[in-house]
Amino acid sequence: MVREIIQEGDPVLRKTAEDVPVSEIRGEKIQALIRDMNETLAEEENGVALAAPQVGVPKRIFVVHPKVFDESAEENLVFINPKILKLSRRLLERDEGCLSIRHTYGIVPRYEKVRVEAYDKEGKKFTRGASDLLAHIIQHEIDHLDGTLFTDKVVRYL
Ligand code: ZN
Repeated sequence: MVREIIQEGDPVLRKTAEDVPVSEIRGEKIQALIRDMNETLAEEENGVALAAPQVGVPKRIFVVHPKVFDESAEENLVFINPKILKLSRRLLERDEGCLSIRHTYGIVPRYEKVRVEAYDKEGKKFTRGASDLLAHIIQHEIDHLDGTLFTDKVVRYL
């Protein structure tokens, strides 16, 4: 089911999202939420990722579209309860936008590389390193889980 994408101004985007109990990941409620997030993101031509608070659910889940990590992959990457293990020293500036702040783009400095630990949709723990665009996206999405929007960090609007 495609859900409505919550827009800036709604307090759910400013909440700290809660961890998903690992025992509930495979349950119908979380599985349905992930399916809905995937379907909602699929409707957005310019969308590359989506966090659960953006569909009104303050839980620590985000999904990333294959177009930013592997064009040939068939499924979105799903990160549940992500934790940053390591950040590069170097920052890189990139332009960003957000499905919750339509028609606004700006330059945001973020760490060039990141290593994250999370659970996948089967409830299995994994770690993944990312650089450049994917690293930016992961940091943008984790910010959503902490109630932070890219406009809080923008250094210049485009
Ligand atoms: Zn966003």
